[in-house]
Amino acid sequence: MSVATVLQHVAGARARITMEAGHLRLRGPREAITPDLKREVAEHKTELVALLTAPDKAVRERLRALAERDRGQVNPNVVDRISNADLAECRTLTDDTLHAYLVALTDTHERMKGKAPWAWTAPAMCAHCGPVWLHPHVVLALPVVDGFHHALACPWCPEHAEGRLFARPHVTCAACARFAPNENNPDAGLGRCIPLATGQWPLTPHACGSYRPQKDTP
Ligand code: SF4
Ligand SMILES: [Zn+2]
Repeated sequence: MSVATVLQHVAGARARITMEAGHLRLRGPREAITPDLKREVAEHKTELVALLTAPDKAVRERLRALAERDRGQVNPNVVDRISNADLAECRTLTDDTLHAYLVALTDTHERMKGKAPWAWTAPAMCAHCGPVWLHPHVVLALPVVDGFHHALACPWCPEHAEGRLFARPHVTCAACARFAPNENNPDAGLGRCIPLATGQWPLTPHACGSYRPQKDTP
């Protein structure tokens, strides 16, 4: 097995390899650090240490130049966060591929802060997260149900699963299938959110992960 394959396995497990006080460390979620992964890293320790202690300045400078050229889509700060191991993987990639990589890193960076990446301007309905912002190209491929493009999962699912707040398209309770309108004034009176068991004004736009669109009437 090559050291590149080991690095792929580490990245695939959402783990990372670092040098700390001169020692190689495998970091990540407890369930990701399997005995097999530990063994692979141990078997390639010498190559990994060599890779991690030889930062490739030329590649980082190339990435920095690409980032500066496209500040609209790329946050130049992400270049400084790229590990030496990932940098080594970048050496043979084309500028187009590196640019796509930087855009993806920037998007992830924004999402981790709870912000929608700049080009993610299309609303969609994720089966797990509720209303979310996605890239318009992604949304175009999704089926439309009850007026919303629907996805079975989305890039926000990890944030949602961990209970983190993030930017969402605003909705109104009046258009939600989980809203019980006020009996005397259904259009504008204080109604009730059934799952949250709270009073809600029907027409106030707000972010809500529990929103579900009303069924389209044929
Ligand atoms: S789930 Fe959200 S949008 Fe729907 S009624 Fe409750 S608060 Fe309103
Ligand atoms: Zn989701």
